[in-house]
Amino acid sequence: MNMRGHHGWIEVICGPMFSGKSEELIRRLRLAQIAKQRVQIFKPAIDDRYDEEYITSHSEQKFLCTPVADVEQILSNIRDTTRVVGIDEAQFFDESIVFACERLANRGLRVILAGLDQDYLGNPFGPMPQLLAIADSVSKNHAVCVVCGEPATKSQRLTEQSDQVVVASGEAYEARCRSCFDPDLSEESARPAIPVSKAAATA
Ligand SMILES: [Zn+2]
Repeated sequence: MNMRGHHGWIEVICGPMFSGKSEELIRRLRLAQIAKQRVQIFKPAIDDRYDEEYITSHSEQKFLCTPVADVEQILSNIRDTTRVVGIDEAQFFDESIVFACERLANRGLRVILAGLDQDYLGNPFGPMPQLLAIADSVSKNHAVCVVCGEPATKSQRLTEQSDQVVVASGEAYEARCRSCFDPDLSEESARPAIPVSKAAATA
């Protein structure tokens, strides 16, 4: 991928839980830092798992980042010297993030977003379909299906929690392939209930 100079560019890293989206975001941001580019990272404040000041991947890699309440706060917090903007958990922002990313890229910034492309029912999640459409580059990560070991593209909910925004610390979800995916929990009723550690309502 060519992101040299000041040409704007939008990248989306999507996939299910446990597919390494945050790791990939962190990896790209680290490379940009090595190239001496100023980086800023944002995430929705709704995601308060682990740490307010870091994006934390499941493998415990950390990157300092700014929690924001909405898209407007991203735009108002970007410094003049910033060349690369990372946005984690992009699925939790409203549709205005699409226009915001276009604006930033048109101003010459490189924007890298990571987010769940599908919710626990397998439906497109929030603004992700539009972001995938306008992106210059798309990476669809796979996880591993915990049932059969095939590549997984779905986030299987393991509880009866029905909010789309269940901020998963891991134990409320597992990765599944299409054939093992059971959004209605029809085959899960025999399992013991697993508590959801953190939950939040949709704004
Ligand atoms: Zn499977």
